Amino acid sequence: MSAYLDEKLEPIFQDVLHRNPGEQEFHQAVHEVLETLGPVLVKHPEFVDSRIIQRICEPERQIIFRVPWQDDNGEIQINRAFRVEFNSALGPYKGGMRFHPSVYLGIIKFLGFEQIFKNALTGLPIGGGKGGSDFDPKGRSDSEIMRFCQSLMTELYRHLGEYTDVPAGDIGVSQREIGYLFGQYKRITNRYESGVLTGKGLGWGGSCARTEATGYGTVFFVQEMLKARGESLDGRKMVVSGSGNVAIYAIQKAQQLGAHVIACSDSSGILVDEEGLDLDRIRRIKEVERRRISDYADEKPNARYVQDGNVWRVPCDVALPCATQNELNGQDAKYLVENGCRAVAEGANMPTTPEGAQVFREAGIAYGPGKAANAGGVATSALEMQQNASRDSWSFEHTENRLEQIMVNIHRDCFETAETFGSPGNYVVGANIAAFLRVARAMEAQGLI
Ligand code: GLU
Repeated sequence: MSAYLDEKLEPIFQDVLHRNPGEQEFHQAVHEVLETLGPVLVKHPEFVDSRIIQRICEPERQIIFRVPWQDDNGEIQINRAFRVEFNSALGPYKGGMRFHPSVYLGIIKFLGFEQIFKNALTGLPIGGGKGGSDFDPKGRSDSEIMRFCQSLMTELYRHLGEYTDVPAGDIGVSQREIGYLFGQYKRITNRYESGVLTGKGLGWGGSCARTEATGYGTVFFVQEMLKARGESLDGRKMVVSGSGNVAIYAIQKAQQLGAHVIACSDSSGILVDEEGLDLDRIRRIKEVERRRISDYADEKPNARYVQDGNVWRVPCDVALPCATQNELNGQDAKYLVENGCRAVAEGANMPTTPEGAQVFREAGIAYGPGKAANAGGVATSALEMQQNASRDSWSFEHTENRLEQIMVNIHRDCFETAETFGSPGNYVVGANIAAFLRVARAMEAQGLI
């Protein structure tokens, strides 16, 4: 871990290490928050006595369960699934489900912990939670995915509800999976409870702009960071990591706002197109044909796909890490800064290592941490819940405007809080403190919870 902790915070962190052995990503996420809370304890010593930080670091409830299912060959498969209901001070637990072979309790706890703060920043009434499974959807047929989702929901449904816990998608879970999960929830409960899951299809309770929201929101956030420095996105060279849902819609919005996006990536390599990425081609390859982005370079002569390439070695003005945790390390950050990068906004959750974040901080470039910069996805999920509760559905334009306004507000909140607490321009400090204060005050008001 990078920076040193305040003397009151160090024992809290040691306690988290001790109580959650081997959960490296969770330790990292907690450390990153604790290293910014020193000035809060100086202003609010009451938070020391009420042990509010220790309470926030301990999930309210953790569910671990078996998911048995049958593959297309008739063989029995067994996966493990999780739902960590972390904090409900501000609203029902809210956060996605991740299906990926790397998933274990430590990953879900890190994501759930981040989600508490992210959701608080949106200003909407949602608490923090996260779930997932070590199930690998790669190469699985539609019917295998369906059977897996049905089996998972057969256990999970008892913990959910529009006022209790509201999952959505994350890596490996998109509209198709949400559909299978929703269908099974409906069969078991005999309730058309639209607000129990978000990320639904437009014809059955979903919200316009939810698919686009995380990527769009990240670009709105970077635009605000640049504005605060008297700059804009127009004509900026941009590099985006990933080529999933977040990356695709980040590229789309960035291009609409005049940025020149030249690279993206997948787990096997990077795609560089100096003429600017052709998003229609990427969307066709990824979303319609479900092929790999390396095929783009086969189709378009001036583009190149570099196997095992590092996307952060492509010089740019703006970098958007939109793939996964710890994908951008200290070396990558140094390279970016030395080659003129002036703004980084995280579309993924915790994509920058502590060393990378330190390089950005010391270089004084605009650095928007995920819990602020990618909050647009979950914010639009909360808008979907609002529409479901009122049995309404809003236009794309109206929903996108709401999203943009939310991102502008989050930026302003982080910016002003960082200034108030003595770290002007530091969005990590601003995001952590602004979110912490909201959650802590709600918990204090609700008694010893
Ligand atoms: N998985 C997304 C996130 O990391 C969205 C969660 C949601 O919409 O509930 O914030």
